[in-house]
Amino acid sequence: MRPKVGVLALQGDVREHLAALEAAGAEPRTVRHADDLAGLEGIVIPGGESTTIGKLAVRFGLFDPLRAAIAGGLAAYGTCAGMILLAVGVTEGDQPLLGVLDVVVRRNAFGRQNESFEVDLDVDGLDTPFHAVFIRAPWVAKAGEDVEVLATVGDHPVMVRQGHVLASAFHPELTDDPRIHRLFVEMTG
Ligand code: GLN
Repeated sequence: MRPKVGVLALQGDVREHLAALEAAGAEPRTVRHADDLAGLEGIVIPGGESTTIGKLAVRFGLFDPLRAAIAGGLAAYGTCAGMILLAVGVTEGDQPLLGVLDVVVRRNAFGRQNESFEVDLDVDGLDTPFHAVFIRAPWVAKAGEDVEVLATVGDHPVMVRQGHVLASAFHPELTDDPRIHRLFVEMTG
């Protein structure tokens, strides 16, 4: 049976994740209300604007149920803004964070000159490099002991895993390579 995997559908590149999850062998569905979390084996938090997604999740009464579900073992994967939302902290400012991944992230970390770039990235667990698209991406500024670093740009972690929580600063949903979504789908259930 294909695992049911939700995509938080408040803002951001939801459609692309639904397609990538389908390609990776999951049964994707959109999540807009707390009720939509029932029966899921995984949840994806897409890229977009982390402050907006966070505020909408609070307004729709989804924030606390989502945090509780992930803290209770629901597998989660955040891309870019999604990575920020999963984190326990950001280096600057104040915004709603789920706090289920023991990292502090720096938003828009690559600076104005490098707002968007693409790079062939070595990722732990993949045989060949992954073509990674970065768009106003964060990096991990500080990671807790239990956090595995799966990929770096320079010295900066850009993909991490802590148990059932996976996060990448880049957007695998924007390329045709389903390997990272497959890796996440294998973490579900
Ligand atoms: N810069 C955005 C943020 O801070 C993330 C960008 C993205 O998701 N592509 O939320």
